[in-house]
Amino acid sequence: MGLLEGKRGLILGVANDHSIAWGIAQALHREGAQLGFTYVGEALERRVRPLAEQLGAPLIAPCDVNHDAEIAALMTRTQEVFGQIDLLVHAIAFANKDELNGPYLRTTRAGFLLAMEVSVYSLTALVKAAEPLLAPGAAILTLTYHGAQKVIPNYNVMGVAKAALEASVRYLAADLGPREIRVNAISAGPIRTLAASGIAGFRALHRSFAEQAPLRRNVTIEDVGNAALWLCSDLSRSVTGEILYVDAGFNIMGLSSAES
Ligand code: NAD
Repeated sequence: MGLLEGKRGLILGVANDHSIAWGIAQALHREGAQLGFTYVGEALERRVRPLAEQLGAPLIAPCDVNHDAEIAALMTRTQEVFGQIDLLVHAIAFANKDELNGPYLRTTRAGFLLAMEVSVYSLTALVKAAEPLLAPGAAILTLTYHGAQKVIPNYNVMGVAKAALEASVRYLAADLGPREIRVNAISAGPIRTLAASGIAGFRALHRSFAEQAPLRRNVTIEDVGNAALWLCSDLSRSVTGEILYVDAGFNIMGLSSAES
């Protein structure tokens, strides 16, 4: 019997088969979870729908997290299809390309607010709307990056957003713990995805990562999926409010020899 047999959940953030959310969806499905998927806009729907159907998804719905009405409609549909849910995966982030390039100091007010709205507030908005549907023992998961803790060139406003997201994980975990609902994040090493392609110098960062990480390799969406499986299963039932690094050990290192 799979680790997630009988569990139902929502996965937000699949854009294509390179998405971290897709790696997570495959791992959760493999262990028996029934999953609903969301997309933003028709172009992404064309990519998401066939992937979701591959996993027999009973729910494929639009949800732009900047619109409370779309979040509310998603939860109504979720209740109709699943009743309660046990899993909620938030793998969503966005900042304008202009903000992911050069000095952080150049960040605009509009660019800052947009990055915070899509990449940070969306988690709180989703959890708030999903709360009545969350079954006891439910697990909520989001995705963060080391740029929340340390300065990574060009990551800029997204690093500030990820720091706020990591704090949100702790506050939400404290709020929902008494209902036996857990909230955690995975801090993934760099992976070549649509979102990552917007960060200046990402290819070089991705390449040098494997040279510096203790395990001397990059991480894959399958690696993140397997860690997500643990955080979404009862095997991690006493773990909440945590940031789990899935980054081949990169974050434990100080300056690389090239920098020192
Ligand atoms: P991706 O481009 O595959 O996924 C990003 C998703 O965000 C897309 O599905 C997109 O539709 C969604 N999104 C953007 N704006 C949205 C909105 N307004 N409403 C709803 N959805 C919206 O890229 P990814 O790298 O798989 O990103 C998933 C998560 O992983 C992000 O939070 C990202 O910051 C994080 N992450 C990525 C890396 C990496 O190197 N790729 C590393 C660590 C963390």
